[in-house]
Amino acid sequence: MDIDNRIIVLSAPSGTGKTTIVKTLMEKHSDLYFSVSTTTRKKRENEKDGVDYYFVSEDEFKKMVDNNDFIEWAVVHSNYYGTTKKEIERIINKGYCILDIDVQGLKNLIEIYPGLKSIFILPPSIYELEKRLRNRGGMDEENIKLRLNNAKNEMKMIYLYKYFVINDNLDNAVKRIEEIIYEK
Ligand code: ADP
Ligand code: 5GP
Repeated sequence: MDIDNRIIVLSAPSGTGKTTIVKTLMEKHSDLYFSVSTTTRKKRENEKDGVDYYFVSEDEFKKMVDNNDFIEWAVVHSNYYGTTKKEIERIINKGYCILDIDVQGLKNLIEIYPGLKSIFILPPSIYELEKRLRNRGGMDEENIKLRLNNAKNEMKMIYLYKYFVINDNLDNAVKRIEEIIYEK
């Protein structure tokens, strides 16, 4: 199978449930490998360095940009995020490579892997998205507003994606994404 077919980009407005979906997928399939991004965002309480993200300072991130370490990088919700070439090299020959990146990242990766599979995960409604963001906790009001506002802009870009999946019922969403990943 060619490499492009094994690159799966998952995007979703923050709070949709993408992390929950990715965790479920990883637990079920040993041939899926999560591409751990590098970020300057503050670590959340339940996150582990090197597992959820590689957490770095802004200075370190900028040095990595200058070193040409990233295959793609972007500013999202006022923080830097990027996928290193090293991370892709670590996993690309092992199995399917799952990237949790935003639309800017997708645009850059399509240039390198035009045949990649891109999936946009949608919340059932904006009201449900707000509820999930609030239930998850760990964010002040300003941050919640920023993410909801960004969600509306991100959803304008869904035409760039090959597949759409609504995360209403978690099991159904996971099942549909499995079908997309493993279809020939
Ligand atoms: P994201 O990674 O997209 O920002 P999370 O996976 O952190 O989102 O999920 C945000 C919140 O929504 C979490 O509290 C999670 O438990 C909850 N959640 C995820 N999927 C569903 C679902 N299908 N129905 C209801 N709640 C969900
Ligand atoms: P969060 O801070 O909620 O974990 O992620 C915020 C946003 O950053 C999400 O939309 C996520 O897809 C995006 N993101 C995470 N890592 C990367 C990355 O390496 N590159 C790009 N372009 N976006 C990323």
